[in-house]
Amino acid sequence: MNMTSVIEIQKKGIPMHRILYAVFFFQRLLLQLRSDENQIKNTIVVLSFLAVCEIIEEIFYHSHLLEKTKTVRIIRYIQCVFASVILLFLHGLEDSGIMILVLWLILVIDFLISMQLENRTYVILFLFLVSFPVLSVILTKMTFSGNDHWLYFFFDILMVLVILAGETFLLLDYLHGLNKTMSDQYYELEDAVEKNKNILNMQEKLKKTNEQLNMQKLDLQLANKQIKEANSEMTAQKEILRYIAMSFDVVKISNHITDSIMQVKKLGFCAVYIRENVYLNQHANYVVKTNFGQLQSKIKEHMEDIYLKMTSENENEAVFHENVKTEFPFLNDVNICSVYARVLELDGDTYGLFLLGDCKKDYFAEHMSFYHAVIAQYDIAIGNAKIYNEMQNMARKDGLTGINNRIYFSELFKNAVSKMKKMNGCMSVALFDIDKFKNVNDTYGHLAGDEVIKKIATTTQSYIEKYNGFVCRYGGEEFVAVLPDRKLEVAQPIIEDLFEELCRQVVVYNGLEIHMSVSIGLTAYPEVCKDTDDLLKRADWCMYYAKEHGRCQINVDDGSIQRNE
Ligand code: GH3
Ligand code: MG
Ligand code: MG
Repeated sequence: MNMTSVIEIQKKGIPMHRILYAVFFFQRLLLQLRSDENQIKNTIVVLSFLAVCEIIEEIFYHSHLLEKTKTVRIIRYIQCVFASVILLFLHGLEDSGIMILVLWLILVIDFLISMQLENRTYVILFLFLVSFPVLSVILTKMTFSGNDHWLYFFFDILMVLVILAGETFLLLDYLHGLNKTMSDQYYELEDAVEKNKNILNMQEKLKKTNEQLNMQKLDLQLANKQIKEANSEMTAQKEILRYIAMSFDVVKISNHITDSIMQVKKLGFCAVYIRENVYLNQHANYVVKTNFGQLQSKIKEHMEDIYLKMTSENENEAVFHENVKTEFPFLNDVNICSVYARVLELDGDTYGLFLLGDCKKDYFAEHMSFYHAVIAQYDIAIGNAKIYNEMQNMARKDGLTGINNRIYFSELFKNAVSKMKKMNGCMSVALFDIDKFKNVNDTYGHLAGDEVIKKIATTTQSYIEKYNGFVCRYGGEEFVAVLPDRKLEVAQPIIEDLFEELCRQVVVYNGLEIHMSVSIGLTAYPEVCKDTDDLLKRADWCMYYAKEHGRCQINVDDGSIQRNE
């Protein structure tokens, strides 16, 4: 029972107390009227007691002192002690003793209720204090002798009924209050359970939301990673595009592309192979990038075989996972678990191989768009390089013979001279002209003449290139051969050999054999020609000298020839 309900009971008990006081008041009045004069003392005591009790209660009730448990206890305590004292003063229980005793009991109950039995020692002490005089009165004045038994009986019954009614009312009220409290508590509990359920639901939802948020966070992280990857892939592709737009140097492009792939994808290796004669390249081209030092030469060694195998099987693209070690035994010693091989193709012709390898298992199974895009760009780069080289070739080479033309020769000659000067080196130059070529044209026809020119050109070129020299078609049937780093005495036997070789040449045209000879002028810097600008001029003078002195001969410059321009 809480404080509020204790005070409520006390307050609700007040009307019952009033009725009881009134009943006892009338009982005493009736007894006084019916009894002797000497009863007046008891009547005054009892009535005073009842009046004091009622007055105290009313004062406390109206001054709201009954709303505090402490003051309630004080009132009840005073009343109980007072009732005990009154009992001692009465002659016997027959003189309203029972009435006072009942009142005493009610007050004791009220006191005990107000105590809420919270302090047991205090309650026991109280009971002892107030019970002692009462028990002594009961024990000493047990004898009941009076005339108005029926009247006492009537009032006692009335009193019991009033008490029963009052206490029942209080009890019912209390029970009702308790019930209400309990039902309130029950509803509160239900409410709390409901709220708890809601909280649990909310918690569950929160948990789910949290999980979703975590998932979203992971998704975001993944997306972020993918965006970063895509970004670096795009940057690499942009860089590759920029690079291939700037350069036609296939080796540099191959290096740049393989470097970009290694940087973006951090692969185990990345290699490109281009066979010979793709972009007018005389030799096959290999670029291999790898972090495994020993792997570079092995890959280079096997690239062509892989390319040939795939092209012979008409296989354009292949990914290797479990079978890596069996397909590529040279990868046995390194941690490479996935390999991607792609045959390169340009205008329907296969021209090389892209080979990628990585230590991750089942790699190259998806997300290949970057590689495909890079390879497509590489194809474009090779195509561009091929066109560029062909155009450059057309600009540099003579249309009939395929050897250097005079324009390109000037460039080559200039470079050779400047290189020679830097090195303080030497150089020999031979200029030769086919003898009596008009006769060839006249006798065999212009086309036959063309064949003769071609024969002389190609023979000269292949011969001179063996000595790291270069040649060009200098005019109609005139040619120049330059031998860098060859002194005159070294160059002379080479040119003599060439002369003999050319004179041995026979062109068969329409079943007719055409024989030819040449006249050659040979000079050299710095022995006989002191100025590099005069090299061609002096070679020409020497050649003319040979022509003038019978043709089909070599005239070696001794520094004496001078001609008027
Ligand atoms: P030589 O040099 O011994 O003095 O006599 P030549 O008959 O060779 O005389 P020249 O050098 O003056 O004549 C060169 C001829 O070569 C003239 C020209 O018709 C011919 N010729 C020049 N270019 C070509 C060419 O591309 N094809 C053919 N078939 N003939 C050419
Ligand atoms: Mg000639
Ligand atoms: Mg000529």
